Amino acid sequence: MTKNVSPPNGGRPLFSPRPELGVSHGHSMTPLLTMHEEIQPPFDPARAVYEAERCLECGQTGVPAPCTVACPAGIDVPGFIRNIRLGRLSEAQDIVFAENPLAGTCARVCPTPVLCEGACVLNHIGLRPVAVGRLQRMAADWSEPSRGAPPQRSSPRIAQVAVVGAGPSGLACAQALSAQGVTVTVYDAAPSAGGLVCTAIAPYRQPDGSLAAEIQRLEASGGVRFEFNRPMTTREDFRRLEDRHAAIFLGVGLGPDKAITIPGHHLAGVWAALPFIERAKTGDWTPRAEHLIVIGAGNTAIDVAREGIRLGIPEVTILYRRTPDKMRAYPYEVREAVQEGVRFQWQVEVQEILGTWRVTGVRCRRTGAGGDALLELSADFVVSAIGQQPRSDLSQLIDGLAWNGSRLVVDPASGQTGNPRYYAAGDLIGGTTVVEAVRGAKVAARAIVQSVRRNAG
Ligand SMILES: Cc1cc2nc3c(=O)[nH]c(=O)nc-3n(C[C@H](O)[C@H](O)[C@H](O)COP(=O)(O)OP(=O)(O)OC[C@H]3O[C@@H](n4cnc5c(N)ncnc54)[C@H](O)[C@@H]3O)c2cc1C
Repeated sequence: MTKNVSPPNGGRPLFSPRPELGVSHGHSMTPLLTMHEEIQPPFDPARAVYEAERCLECGQTGVPAPCTVACPAGIDVPGFIRNIRLGRLSEAQDIVFAENPLAGTCARVCPTPVLCEGACVLNHIGLRPVAVGRLQRMAADWSEPSRGAPPQRSSPRIAQVAVVGAGPSGLACAQALSAQGVTVTVYDAAPSAGGLVCTAIAPYRQPDGSLAAEIQRLEASGGVRFEFNRPMTTREDFRRLEDRHAAIFLGVGLGPDKAITIPGHHLAGVWAALPFIERAKTGDWTPRAEHLIVIGAGNTAIDVAREGIRLGIPEVTILYRRTPDKMRAYPYEVREAVQEGVRFQWQVEVQEILGTWRVTGVRCRRTGAGGDALLELSADFVVSAIGQQPRSDLSQLIDGLAWNGSRLVVDPASGQTGNPRYYAAGDLIGGTTVVEAVRGAKVAARAIVQSVRRNAG
């Protein structure tokens, strides 16, 4: 498959896949991983209680536990775990949703090894951390038929606020505003809510998803109205929002994938990451490919590669122009990808995609010491995962916005943008996870409520 003109790392990937784990690798093995096979399946009650009993319940009044400090949403982790241990699932559920309206989604998709579980004190004594994510999932998913929906708010509504974008940041902002008596209209260009949670986050993290239930909770709380298929794309659109609303929250995330412009980028079999993942998420796709090459080294590149393995592609290789320590992907995810059979080639820059009609390979330049040597790899599928486009187009629609590179600048204490009527959070301001979007949205909602109360009083 591989024709090395001058291979980096002696032609071997830095890490070797481990076929002994019984996962797909090469042509000789039947893939055992499937697209919707969950990597963190739910606990049964006995296992949940066992796990809850491992929690040391750190923290005290005024001194939150390290796991709570590490949670961007600020969930009282020992509090909900204690309630699981005592069998009080409704109380545990109230605790997780009190701080995070997407608690079930986050329980499935959060990078817990670098957040709550990474901060667990058990790590310091050489023990496995408490499985906070899976316990949170149990609390969030708990359903008690007699309990019904959260009560509707009957108190007078204090203002009208527009939320643009029904992704994680928009949903979390809408929830926090509504809980404070603000009437919220959420506008989204898409036909339904969820943003990247629906279209991009890997199905093996959330095959049964909990977003639908979370949106139902939000709708049941009263005060939030959705308008789908409503893209805000002109100055006039935003002027109309300004006329009718006391404040506007921007939760529009980032744009489509950045385009690669190297020769051959137009060939059949060359895809961008987001359409690849969206197609993979349909669950009814079997790409006819023998060797998938992924360009990039962030979490999205890792997701594409791991999904490629699950789609049954026998050989999957990530190409990255720098050294492994410069990768933006979480190291634990890189390790998991390697265990599943993903190969890596470091310090190679793709210069050209080869082929006449369909892609047949890539030509790369070695970027490390002794650079300039060329390397050709054969491939019949290439996915570029080099990040999403910034949303600086918004500056043509809204006055006063400022940018730091691709990030919209906000006051970190309030989420307020350079235009005092506008607030923002999520990927638009540089976030990279659902839980960061939730955190930023809560900050913005608090500031919006203070502002409308000040103006009303
Ligand atoms: C491949 C991939 C995998 C990921 N995996 C994980 C993971 O495992 N765990 C994790 O925590 N995070 C993950 N993330 C990141 C996470 O999805 C984002 O951080 C999060 O979705 C950001 O939320 P948001 O609300 O800022 O934006 P988005 O989720 O992008 O939502 C933006 C919403 O705004 C709408 N919109 C955009 N423009 C307009 C407009 N002009 N008018 C009206 N509506 C508009 C869109 O339709 C969309 O619904 C992943 C991201 C990607 C790309």
